[in-house]
Amino acid sequence: MAATKSTPDIHPSAFPLAGLARDGWSTETEATATCFCGAVQLRVPLTAPGLVDTFICNCPDCHKITASMFASNFTVLDTHTSFIRGEANLTAFGQSDTIGRGHLMTNYFCRTCGTLMYRVGGGFPGMKIPRIGTVDDFRVMEGALRPRREQFTKYRVGWLEEVEDTVKSEGMGE
Ligand SMILES: [Zn+2]
Ligand SMILES: [Zn+2]
Repeated sequence: MAATKSTPDIHPSAFPLAGLARDGWSTETEATATCFCGAVQLRVPLTAPGLVDTFICNCPDCHKITASMFASNFTVLDTHTSFIRGEANLTAFGQSDTIGRGHLMTNYFCRTCGTLMYRVGGGFPGMKIPRIGTVDDFRVMEGALRPRREQFTKYRVGWLEEVEDTVKSEGMGE
């Protein structure tokens, strides 16, 4: 089968070597999301209503907080998300001078390895916004968590291509 841009054939395993944890898993409806050192592991939903949204954000906050040029996020309900381990190993940093809204946005990092596990926004009560990149099963990144929206496209750098088949918004999406 020919490789395409959206389905690279360079991953022989659904669980590529990434960090120290070796106990990631996924089902049709749930998957693990683990930090780089393995201390923090979440169980996240892959279907509605627990899974609310999946999106790319190019905003300047995300440039800083990821040290990269975009963030790949998904939004989940707290009622459908739980810790397998490591909640006490998180450290938080929040501020309200964010680009999109005046609400406080708090970022939760593994205090050992620094992985940003999720954000919690004052404008999104009852939800967490984890990072797609922390999910252990590569197939889930291509499947259930494939981004549906791309926001703050006005801050996407010129050398980065848009994500195909996503709903675009120049600023904060709906
Ligand atoms: Zn860690
Ligand atoms: Zn952003």
